Amino acid sequence: MSATLQNRDRLTREQAQGLLDRHGIAPTEQRLEITRLLFARHQHLSAEQILAQLSMQASQVSKATVYNTLKLFAETGLVREVIIDSAKRFYDSNPNPHHHLFHTDSGRLEDVAPARVEITDLPGLSPAMEVVGVDVVIRVAPRKAQ
Ligand SMILES: [Zn+2]
Repeated sequence: MSATLQNRDRLTREQAQGLLDRHGIAPTEQRLEITRLLFARHQHLSAEQILAQLSMQASQVSKATVYNTLKLFAETGLVREVIIDSAKRFYDSNPNPHHHLFHTDSGRLEDVAPARVEITDLPGLSPAMEVVGVDVVIRVAPRKAQ
């Protein structure tokens, strides 16, 4: 991939700065770099994938910085953390409410519109509690031959 193509694949510095500002995050160089990469489109990237893409661009962001930055982004609600299991988590740049389809064979995560999943019953909640979000991960695999 050419350098020009890669640049078109990223947010501008100003767009990234705006996103960080709106979430009250101080815009360090490393945070701007990660934001420009992750928010180029709606996508799900793991910390390892972000690290790999940054090092392809000869970036100086360390592994610890990538992990700390993603943790901060998740805490401030800038990204949504999608936890598949204890070893697999993705950072989702799509801010709209939605569910996920997880392809266990390829490890790919796909968005599912909220209207496509109907939840007809929820466990009884104490009257002091209310539902503030429901995140569904549907795990799929290719059918085994009969
Ligand atoms: Zn998603």
